[in-house]
Amino acid sequence: MQDKGRYGGLDRFRLFAAFLVVAIHTSPLLSYSGDADFFLTRVLGRIAVPFFFMVTGQFVLSECLLDKACPWGRIWQYVKKTALLYGISIALYMPLGIYAGHYKNSSVSGLLRMLVFDGTFYHLWYFPACITGVLLVYLMSRFMGKNAVTVMAAGLYIVGLFGDSYFGFIKNVPVIASFYNTGFKVFSYTRNGFFLAPVFLILGMRAEEKQSSMKGTICLLGLFLSFGAMTTEAFWLKNLGVMRHDSMYLALPFVMFFLYQILLSWRWMPFRMVRTASAWVYILHPAMIVAVRAAAKALGLEALLVDNSLVHYLAVVVSSVAAAFVISLLFCGKGKEHGGRGEKGDSGRAWIELDRQALRQNVDALRKMLPESCQLMPAVKADAYGHGAMLIAKELSGMGVRAFCVACAKEGAELRQQGIKGEILILGYTHPDQFPLLSRYQLTQTVVDFSYAELLNNYGKRKHRKIPVHVGIDTGMHRLGERGENIDRICEICFMKHLAVKGLYTHLCVSDTLERAGKEYTKFQKNIFYQVIGEMEKRGLEAPKIHLLASYGVLNYPELSGDYARVGIALYGVLSTREDMEDWKGLFHPVLSLKARVAAVKDLYAGEYAGYGMAFQAERNMKIAALAIGYADGLPRSLSGGVGAVLIDGKRAPVIGRICMDQTLVDVSGISGVKTGDVAVLIGKSGEEEISACDLAEWTGTISNEILSRMGGRLRRVIS
Ligand SMILES: *Cc1c(COP(=O)(O)O)cnc(C)c1O
Repeated sequence: MQDKGRYGGLDRFRLFAAFLVVAIHTSPLLSYSGDADFFLTRVLGRIAVPFFFMVTGQFVLSECLLDKACPWGRIWQYVKKTALLYGISIALYMPLGIYAGHYKNSSVSGLLRMLVFDGTFYHLWYFPACITGVLLVYLMSRFMGKNAVTVMAAGLYIVGLFGDSYFGFIKNVPVIASFYNTGFKVFSYTRNGFFLAPVFLILGMRAEEKQSSMKGTICLLGLFLSFGAMTTEAFWLKNLGVMRHDSMYLALPFVMFFLYQILLSWRWMPFRMVRTASAWVYILHPAMIVAVRAAAKALGLEALLVDNSLVHYLAVVVSSVAAAFVISLLFCGKGKEHGGRGEKGDSGRAWIELDRQALRQNVDALRKMLPESCQLMPAVKADAYGHGAMLIAKELSGMGVRAFCVACAKEGAELRQQGIKGEILILGYTHPDQFPLLSRYQLTQTVVDFSYAELLNNYGKRKHRKIPVHVGIDTGMHRLGERGENIDRICEICFMKHLAVKGLYTHLCVSDTLERAGKEYTKFQKNIFYQVIGEMEKRGLEAPKIHLLASYGVLNYPELSGDYARVGIALYGVLSTREDMEDWKGLFHPVLSLKARVAAVKDLYAGEYAGYGMAFQAERNMKIAALAIGYADGLPRSLSGGVGAVLIDGKRAPVIGRICMDQTLVDVSGISGVKTGDVAVLIGKSGEEEISACDLAEWTGTISNEILSRMGGRLRRVIS
């Protein structure tokens, strides 16, 4: 996770986008061909700024999608940061602006227009546009759903379009023209925070909604077609002579949509320095244009450095990049002081990171072990073993999974509410009061025994419908299911008028071992199950779909596959114990990492106590850190008192004292430079070190299934 490229593609593209902006302001191909330059700077170049807006939308606004209470704190933080950058840039360009006579005879309204809409120097309009755009989208999303906001933003974009490259079409239409001309008294262009920014902010903010379902080839084709359309559109408008400005095209949002999907799918390492550097290339390049010109004049190289447009462009790019990297080196160094060392992460106190690639590898590994005829029916019960049922089910759907199993009706209903398709089997008991949920959400219920079948059948009779069920057969676990020897009753269930028996299954209780007794018991269970099927066939009942295997069944008895495999723990890349993990090394990859922030670091002097109950006393002077995670987040309290450890900066920090509800103390004496805001890894990798869910299970005397499934609902989950 922390080492997998989540947004590496975006990081790199930023630099390319910054180069395009420089091109727009230097026209590199002008010495060679007017049309080529138009294509480069007015068509291709126009993807740069929308791309930056999309990145902003994704990282600043995406939480507005989750609930109506969009986090104002984050928005405000962003507005402040952008305003600061804008302020620095204004100051930086003040001398140039004065020199160029930008502020001469400016009225108050003229200054305001410059500050809020046009920017105080030609490229600086971008900063106020970001701020107004973000505030506008935030405001809209407080009152409207995401689709309504999207439609509004698209409407604003169309309005902007007619003030930009489509202006010629309306400039002689009486009322409309005067509407636009009034607008142009307030702002010089419609490519600003009101008309241009919102649609791209929203495309960015919603970019990850589509991500799992969009195929790479479709995106490539989409990009190819939409970019072709945009090129045609731009040259057509140019030849018609209708353009007032050339920032906005009808096809541009489509180009951006497909481009962004492709960039998101690139799994490269994040590259933080490039992120900062590209912003500085953007800010600094006009100054570098001036510098290159001045240098050329001083050196008598104007013919080469200024008159040749391509060499001029390259000179500006090289000097801007050099200046930007110097600045971002300083800034990245400084960034470390503010915490978040080593690991990029969530801004929360503690969170779960999910690895999409690992999930995919596990799905592939399990599919390979099974014959074609056997489908995966992943167990996403208990919030997908603590991973987040919604996220996981959506990912799995994207990987072609069409059947799921859950523990109870509520879990099934929630999946349906979020749009999960395919069969959803409830493995456990549903109270008759909740039977209406079964048909409302098209859930399949397990028949837990004969009398339960009667209840379900009566309900179906009252409602005049057939209730879809899988019949559980108890072959020796003696938990749920009708006992295998009661063949008459099982057949009677299958003949019930108001049940649609779609499946027949059993659960193996020792499939996790290959020891002799276990193997024999499994064989015994299998025989009972197949006897039932044989008897049913004798009585003229067509056998429905059958299934017996959970994760360990797939590993140890793939030959018993049947029609479905109800895989749980292995799908999440973990096995129940560490020994099993070692036996099956390399096959499965843990999907979940658990991380928390260092909330405070302090000295603890020899003889002092730490935590509740004076349970820990320092034997020597030490440094300790309080982590913002506790047992209410699912961290077992039994890791207290040195039983557990966490990783900070690739090194182990043992837990000291008693784990609290929301906090945990660790010993960081052996790790230099730990500070507030650093990230501690409780499950997952840090540097060369790794702590797995199996380790936690071993330390606390349980199995990894329990550790994972108890991960608290208070934790935010991010997938990458
Ligand atoms: C939980 C459960 C599973 C999944 O088990 P894993 O061992 O996690 O793969 C399968 N079948 C039933 C009946 C279950 O309750």
